[in-house]
Amino acid sequence: MTQDLFVSSPALRFDVQAQNGEARAGALTTRRGVIETPVFMPVGTAGTVKAIRFEELESKDLDAKIILGNTYHLWLRPGIETVKACGGLHRFISWDRALLTDSGGFQVWSLGALRKITEEGTEFRSHVDGSLQFLSPEVSMEVQAALGSDIVMVLDECAPGNAAYEETEKSVRLTGRWARRSRTAFDRMQVDDADTGHIEAPGLSGSQALFGIIQGAGHLDLRRVSLEETVGVGFDGYAIGGLSVGEEKSVMFDVISDLAPRMPADKPRYLMGVGTPEDLIEAVANGVDMFDCVLPTRNGRTGQAFTSRGKLNIKNSRWVRDQRALDEDCRCMVCRRHTRAYLRHLYLAGEILASILLTHHNLAFFLDTMRSVRQSIRSGDFPKFRREFTERLDANGE
Ligand SMILES: [Zn+2]
Repeated sequence: MTQDLFVSSPALRFDVQAQNGEARAGALTTRRGVIETPVFMPVGTAGTVKAIRFEELESKDLDAKIILGNTYHLWLRPGIETVKACGGLHRFISWDRALLTDSGGFQVWSLGALRKITEEGTEFRSHVDGSLQFLSPEVSMEVQAALGSDIVMVLDECAPGNAAYEETEKSVRLTGRWARRSRTAFDRMQVDDADTGHIEAPGLSGSQALFGIIQGAGHLDLRRVSLEETVGVGFDGYAIGGLSVGEEKSVMFDVISDLAPRMPADKPRYLMGVGTPEDLIEAVANGVDMFDCVLPTRNGRTGQAFTSRGKLNIKNSRWVRDQRALDEDCRCMVCRRHTRAYLRHLYLAGEILASILLTHHNLAFFLDTMRSVRQSIRSGDFPKFRREFTERLDANGE
């Protein structure tokens, strides 16, 4: 890849191609291929989507076009110098498709008492070795530039889901100032690399996209303030942060339905860290384009399957001799081959394969649901799809 290509081609292009009410179907074009939206992005915390091989993520069964990497985890272990020396995150993990990295802020936030927030940034203790670390907008941009992800997230400050007004307002203002600092540091690094040729390997910045994050907990007016400030700075895409962090589900949907339609229509809208398949569909109905969540992978490892008829707990004794597939409507390789009885046995026996197979099915179900969502928007049938999907869950939930 030549440097000309870095400079001349935009890091990200977004085209809305069909709309059904607020729901949109479109294409997100990155240097590493076209991603059809709405899209679900599996979470690859520490350079791996847990319990699944990259070949399977690329297979027809799943065909994940973009995955997430967690800045916090990769920064602390193996460390940025190691990832850089290995040619950036794509080369290090051998993944040619698109990557999005978070800012590290959310993981630090979830450490709770172990952190101290100031105007400058956040001081915290590493969960790996207890060492004192410091995360600022500048550090986050530097780390994500070194990782070489295709989509970089600004460093934000997340107030708890049920935070009081005053506390939330402070957090929104700080998030606004950090967004500016993130933008400045990001631009300086992208320009520096393009001008001086300090790109040690393709993918080490020079052509990354930067997304802003809107905060404001459950306070709609503060959400609008945050939206205005974030759009004022200007980003390639906009994310709704700080949801699914302990607030009531009704609060979450109040925020999404009020905020998403107000977000710039010509940029991708990303809902961070949410949620179940039915949450995704509701958010799509409000105009959201991108999602990530640990639910399909994490719940897969704890014996819970997502199916077209609701959640299924594989530990349940009722499956002991059940010869049916996990989901009779799913065509993934797990559902084509294995029975509930066998999967239950694997899980109870503590076999690694239980995690692998349940993760595979869950990801297949999430990704396939999003494929159906896209098709239904394109054909103008999204309202019908949404109604039928929900009815089937309600009628058959375990
Ligand atoms: Zn399946």
